[in-house]
Amino acid sequence: MTVTVRFAPSPTGRIHIGNARTALFNWLFAINYKGRFIQRFDDTDIARSKQEYADSILYDLHWLGIFPDVTEYQSRRFDIYDAAVERLKAARVLYACYETPEELDLRRKVRRTRGLPPVYGREALTLTPEQVAEYQSDGRKPHWRFLLPNFTSDPLQPERTDVHWNDLVRGEETVDLASLSDPVLVREDGTYLYTLPSVVDDIEMGVSHVIRGDDHVTNTGVQIAIFKALGAEPPVFGHHNLLTTTTGEGLSKRTGALSIESLRQDGIEPMAVASLAVLVGTSENVTAAHDLNELASHFDPAATSKSASKFDPDELLVLNRALMHHMSFEDARDRLMVLGISGDKAEAFWLAVRGNLDRLSDAVAWWRIVSEGPQEPAEFSGEDRDFLNQAFDVLPEEPWNGTVWKDWTGKIKEATGRKGKPLFMPLRLALTGRTSGPELSDLLPLMGREGTLARRP
Ligand code: GLU
Repeated sequence: MTVTVRFAPSPTGRIHIGNARTALFNWLFAINYKGRFIQRFDDTDIARSKQEYADSILYDLHWLGIFPDVTEYQSRRFDIYDAAVERLKAARVLYACYETPEELDLRRKVRRTRGLPPVYGREALTLTPEQVAEYQSDGRKPHWRFLLPNFTSDPLQPERTDVHWNDLVRGEETVDLASLSDPVLVREDGTYLYTLPSVVDDIEMGVSHVIRGDDHVTNTGVQIAIFKALGAEPPVFGHHNLLTTTTGEGLSKRTGALSIESLRQDGIEPMAVASLAVLVGTSENVTAAHDLNELASHFDPAATSKSASKFDPDELLVLNRALMHHMSFEDARDRLMVLGISGDKAEAFWLAVRGNLDRLSDAVAWWRIVSEGPQEPAEFSGEDRDFLNQAFDVLPEEPWNGTVWKDWTGKIKEATGRKGKPLFMPLRLALTGRTSGPELSDLLPLMGREGTLARRP
C-alpha cells in the first residue's frame, strides 16, 4: 500500500503556524513512509473561499519546503459528491429534514429539561407524506441528514454503538454513535458541509492516513460510519494537539495571527518555523533542524502530547539564531548577494558575523560597519581618546596575516599598559560603533589597514 496523506485547509485566509503543523505532520509522515502528499483545498464554501488564499497557501507551503504531488480543489468536484449523495439516498441512509434552526433549538431545550441527551431525535423520519407535501408547498427546502448506524432495527430507538479506531497520536479512541446527532451533510440550499466531500475525496484519492488537528476528533466517528456506508475501508486517523498563543488563545486564519507570511516578513527562517511547528508539544527537544529530512528523522506522531500546546514566538528567534550560527556560506551566498553583500570578502565576512545574527538581514548592518565604518560614531572621554590615538599609532603594517589582531593588541598593551575590558571596549567602539558584536580578530582583516586607520577618533 502506498502511504497517501493530504493537507486539506479551506482557503479562507492565510495559514498560520498551527496549520503549518498539520501540513508538516503530513509531509514528514510522507517522507518517512515514501508516500504521496495531496494538497486538497476544501473550498466547497464558495462565498468564503478565495483563489488568492489558495495561491498564498501553496506559496507558504513551498517556502516551508513542502511540494505537493498533486493539488485538488473540492469546488471542481461537485458532481462526484452529488453521485455519493444519490448512493446514500438509495441506501436510505440520507434523509430529508425540514426543521428550522429555531425549531431545532426549541427541541434541544425540551430534551434537556427531560434529561435526554441534546441530540437530534430523528423526528423527520416520522413525517407523513402529507406533512412533507405541506412543507414543500410552504416553500421549505429540506436539509439532509446521514442516518448514523446506532440502532438494531428501529432508528427511533438508538442504542450504544461504539466505534473504535487506533489513533496515530492518541492511541485507542472510542466514540458512541448514540451520543451524536445525525450529521447534516447537505444544507437547504444544496451546498455541502465539510463532512461528506472530505470522506468522498479520501476514498477517491486513495488517502491511507488522515492526519489532522484534534478539533476533528468528534468528526471521526461519523466519518468512519460514512466510509462504511459508501463501501470503503476507513483510513488510519491521527489527531495532533493544537497550538495556542502563550495566553492560551487558539490561532485563527481570519486574524492573521502568527501567519506564515508575517513570520517570513519578520525574517524568520523556514526551518525555524518548521522545527518549532513540529516539535513543540511533543516529547522531542525543540532544536533547529537543518532541513525537512532531518526533521522527519525526529518526527514521531505518537510522541505528540494529547493536550493543547502553548506556542511562544520568542522561541522562533532562538531557533533562527541557531540556524544563522551554523549556516554555511554556500547556503547564504545568494541571499547575501541580494542584500548587496558580495565580492571576495563576502565569505570571510559571513563566517565572522553569522554567530551574531538574529536574522540573515541583520548582516546588512554589519556589512556597512565593516565597509563604511561605524554608523553612529561613539563618544569617547579624553582619556580613552588618548588611549585610542596611541593604539592606532602602533597598528601593524600590511601585509597582515591571521595573527594581526593578537599582534596589534599585544603592542597596545605594551604601549599603554591597558588590558582586559578597558583595552578592548574603546577599540570595539571605535571600530564598530557598538559595544558588542563579532570577534574583532575576524573583523579587523576585513576592514584592512586603511579602513582601520580611518576609524581613528
Ligand atoms: N478543511 C478541514 C479543516 O481545515 C479539513 C479537515 C480534515 O483534514 O479532514 O479543518
